[in-house]
Amino acid sequence: MISLGIEGTAHTIGAGIADDCGNILADTRKTYKPAHGQGIVPRDAVQFMGDNIKRTLNDALEHADLNFNNIDLISFSKGPGLGPCLRTAATAARVLSLHNKIPVLGVNHCVAHIEIGKLICKFNDPLILYVSGGNTQILKLKDKRYRIFGETLDVGIGNMLDKFGRAIGLDHPAGPKIEKLAKSGRNYIELPYIVKGTDLSFSGVLTSAVQKFNKNYDLEDLCFSLQETAFSMLTEVTERALAHLKADEVLLTGGVGNNSRLSEMLKAMAEEHDAVFGVPEKYCSDNGVMISWLGILMYNSGVRHELEDTVVRQKFRTDEVEVLW
Ligand code: AMP
Ligand code: MG
Repeated sequence: MISLGIEGTAHTIGAGIADDCGNILADTRKTYKPAHGQGIVPRDAVQFMGDNIKRTLNDALEHADLNFNNIDLISFSKGPGLGPCLRTAATAARVLSLHNKIPVLGVNHCVAHIEIGKLICKFNDPLILYVSGGNTQILKLKDKRYRIFGETLDVGIGNMLDKFGRAIGLDHPAGPKIEKLAKSGRNYIELPYIVKGTDLSFSGVLTSAVQKFNKNYDLEDLCFSLQETAFSMLTEVTERALAHLKADEVLLTGGVGNNSRLSEMLKAMAEEHDAVFGVPEKYCSDNGVMISWLGILMYNSGVRHELEDTVVRQKFRTDEVEVLW
């Protein structure tokens, strides 16, 4: 079976094609870049998606040397995400499904980040740290759901980094730029460290880092300290969950998973607990492949959606999905 996945939750319009053996046949992505000084503006993001969706889909089909006659399933990101972006991807998926008489499935974007991680890292039942712009969750599969054992109580880690970046004049997304600056940082500047059980809070560290920037603290030291503080918090809560849940594998996924310092910290922690660490390097950021792969898993375990089931959901929690595969 061959599935086409359409990703469109926030900044990236992606088209991915995968088969049910887990082979990736195409992965095209186009990412909206906000103007200098701005974060993601939903109106602009959706305009970008509308302008680019046709080319993204055509490029994926061309790359895989396929046409719609070869596609057995169309999946799209049903949520969570920005309403206008979700509706654009969903509308495209519905129209393509009706026109080409191909089944359509709306899938959960967070579960897709997890499943692509498991596929690429060849993991079976990992403890998961899922870190992206809007989401920060520690999860493990239990009784057919990815249960959330810990999460942010305010902003997601990626949003925190992007907001700090905006305050100091870095373009969106700031995460990779902060990572680069942090590499030259030498001195640790103390910042608020807020962990509550297995939950986290990033708003205090953000406010304090911006205040320190305004007081002319060294920028590289500040980026270094921001990463060390926030990533230590993430590593601590992941370790606490690991100690309770006893997993053999620790999976890092989501856009902030691109950060090599975060990987390094989690890997060291996992190894101390005799667990294998993995991160799906090229597939941490939003992409259509993960949507297509989750569609295959769902379809092959019997999930079917009628057109009325394809309504998007801006708030669609990871643990609402019954994991039947
Ligand atoms: P996603 O929506 O899953 O693609 O994640 C997007 C988020 O990942 C944004 O907040 C980015 O700033 C963040 N991000 C991407 N690359 C890195 C990196 N190397 N270090 C830290 N954050 C990153
Ligand atoms: Mg994402």
